[in-house]
Amino acid sequence: MIPFDYARPSTAKAAIDAVVRDKSARFIAGGSNLVDLMKRGVMTPEKIIDINALPLRGIARTGKTIRIRALTLNSAVAADPVITERLPLLAQALKAGASPQIRNMATVGGNLMQRTRCPYFYDTALPCNKRAPGSGCSALNGYNRMHAIIGFSESCIAVNPSDMNVALAALDATVIVQGPKGERHIPIADFHRLPGNTPQLDTNLQRDELITAVEIPDAPGFATTSLYTKVRDRASYAFALVSVAAALHIENGSIRDARLAMGGIAHKPWRLRRTEDYIRRQQPSIRLFNNAALADLKEARGHGHNNFKLVLAPNTIAQTLRTLAGLA
Ligand SMILES: Cc1cc2nc3c(=O)[nH]c(=O)nc-3n(C[C@H](O)[C@H](O)[C@H](O)COP(=O)(O)OP(=O)(O)OC[C@H]3O[C@@H](n4cnc5c(N)ncnc54)[C@H](O)[C@@H]3O)c2cc1C
Ligand code: SF4
Repeated sequence: MIPFDYARPSTAKAAIDAVVRDKSARFIAGGSNLVDLMKRGVMTPEKIIDINALPLRGIARTGKTIRIRALTLNSAVAADPVITERLPLLAQALKAGASPQIRNMATVGGNLMQRTRCPYFYDTALPCNKRAPGSGCSALNGYNRMHAIIGFSESCIAVNPSDMNVALAALDATVIVQGPKGERHIPIADFHRLPGNTPQLDTNLQRDELITAVEIPDAPGFATTSLYTKVRDRASYAFALVSVAAALHIENGSIRDARLAMGGIAHKPWRLRRTEDYIRRQQPSIRLFNNAALADLKEARGHGHNNFKLVLAPNTIAQTLRTLAGLA
C-alpha cells in the first residue's frame, strides 16, 4: 500500500473542494471496497477524504419518494421499517449481499460505486483494460465464469457485482449528487455505464462529485408483490452468478404493471424492459413467463466458462415471476 494523506471534512463543500484541489484524492465511506483495492495496489489514491463526518445518514419519506442519504449503512436500510414496508425488494437485495459484518460497514454511496470482482482487475500482474487502459482484457480468453453475457465489449466483459444496484434499477431510483457546479439528479439507468472502449469508467459520476442521496418512488402497488432472487455458489457471502429483482402489480387476475432488473449479466444492472412489456396486461401463466424471460436476452452471448448463464438467466427470470404470481 502506498503512503497517503488523510482528511476528514465536516461539510460536503469542504469534501468536494478537497477532491477538486487534489487530482489523486478519493472519497472513502465504509472502506470495505476501497481499502481492499488500495492494499492490492489496484487503486492508489494519494489522499483519502473520509466523508463519515458529513451529515448524510438517514431515511425519510418526502411526498411521493423515499430518500436514503448516502452514508446510511446497508444494514440500516435493510432493517428500516419504511423500507421493509414500502420497498421490501430493496431490503431483500441488501440482505442477500455480503455478510452482516460487511453490511454494517458498507454505505449506500459506496455500494453504488463498488468496483467489479473480475479476478484479473484485482491481479496487478496481469493485463486488464479497466485497471490499466490499453493493456488488454485477460478475461476474454481466460477464466470468465462470473462474467457478462450482454452489453459487454471487446475491451471488457466484467459485471457490476452489486445486489442493491439491481433493486434500485427495478425501482427506478434517482442518484442525487453534488459537485463544484451544484446538484444534479441522475436516473439509475444512466448512472452505471457499459464498458464500450472506456471500461475504466464504471459510472457517469465525475471524480469531484459526491453522492448525497438516493431517491426512490414510493410505489405501494409494488410493495407487497416483489422478490429478489440471487443465484450463487454458496448460500451466503458470495457474489451473484445471476440475480433478478422483480415487482409485480397484479389486479383482478391481470398483471397491471411490472418492474424487472437483472444482475450478474452485464457491466451495469440490466433493466428487463422487453420482459416487462411482454407480461403487462396479461394473465400470469407459466407459458407467458417462460416466453417473456427470453425477451431481453436475445443478444446474450457466452465466453466459454460462463455459457451456463445463457440458460440460468432466463430460468431465473421465469422462476422469480412464477413465485411472485403464486405459480411456483
Ligand atoms: C468479502 C466481501 C463480500 C461482498 N459481497 C457482496 C455481495 O454479495 N453483494 C454486494 O452487493 N456487495 C458485496 N460486497 C461489496 C460491498 O457491498 C461493498 O464493498 C460496499 O457496499 C462498499 O461500500 P463502502 O461504503 O464500504 O464503500 P468504500 O469502500 O468506502 O468506497 C467504495 C467506492 O465508492 C466511493 N464512494 C463511497 N461513498 C461515496 C459517495 N458518497 N460519493 C461518491 N463516491 C463514494 C469511494 O471513493 C470508492 O471508490 C462484498 C464486499 C466484501 C469485502
Ligand atoms: S473483464 Fe474487464 S475487469 Fe476483467 S480483465 Fe477484462 S478488462 Fe479487466
